[in-house]
Amino acid sequence: MDARQRSQYLEALGIDEWVPRNPVAAATGAAVAQTSPAMHPAAAAAAITPAAITLRAEIPPKPASGELSVELAAQWSALRAEVGTCTRCALHATRTQGVFGVGNELADWLVIGEAPGAEEDRRGQPFVGRAGQLLDAMLKSIGLGRETNVYIANVLKSRPPGNRDPKSEEVAACLPYLLRQIGLMRPRLILAVGRIAAQNLLSTDMPLGRLRGKVHQFGELNTPLIVTYHPAYLLRTPGDKRKAWEDLKFARSVFRQLTQGLGTLGDRT
Ligand code: URA
Repeated sequence: MDARQRSQYLEALGIDEWVPRNPVAAATGAAVAQTSPAMHPAAAAAAITPAAITLRAEIPPKPASGELSVELAAQWSALRAEVGTCTRCALHATRTQGVFGVGNELADWLVIGEAPGAEEDRRGQPFVGRAGQLLDAMLKSIGLGRETNVYIANVLKSRPPGNRDPKSEEVAACLPYLLRQIGLMRPRLILAVGRIAAQNLLSTDMPLGRLRGKVHQFGELNTPLIVTYHPAYLLRTPGDKRKAWEDLKFARSVFRQLTQGLGTLGDRT
């Protein structure tokens, strides 16, 4: 992505561009995420500290064809069909349809939100309302897109009426579907957007501010998981978009470390 495109994306996100004091460090990618003056106070203190987590030993290679094998495709469509007819929780009675997920099932990045809203319930796809447009712009700013290299899903597949928070029994009923999606997909990195997604995935009630800037591990595969703000929150609180941009840069740098084969990763402390 060239500098002009990057400026355009940041403008679309409503973020003023940060101009580096040290253009050489910026050009070489050295510690940009750790030194930006826009970073939240906890993050400004130090660089990534090594050895904080151990990465999953091996990540199965993606097929060179870029296509799902016949077997995997069948497993995905069986799972999709199951979600489509699911009655495990009361939400099935009020939803228009289950919202399974969208994007590239072979992608390295998995974005997980909370639950479908009204527009998603109507159209059957996650993040297609205003928040979804902002999510797309956020992803684009780090070179990701639902048509190419990311998969997007939610903790809940059915819309809670009135967009209320998911109930714990709804999460308990629905999470196995997400776990099966993750098992089929084996993403290298999960980006949890919003407090509800992050807290449910990490089984914690810590506030979002304390979950940001860290590399968590998720599930049996110990998939690295990073937390950022929900785009709907950012629409209501545009002043925090800059912090979301820091999270996205952090996620991108962690992903680069992962794909460059480093054995350990640290948090942005
Ligand atoms: N908010 C979410 O968390 N997920 C969606 O799919 C839409 C809005």
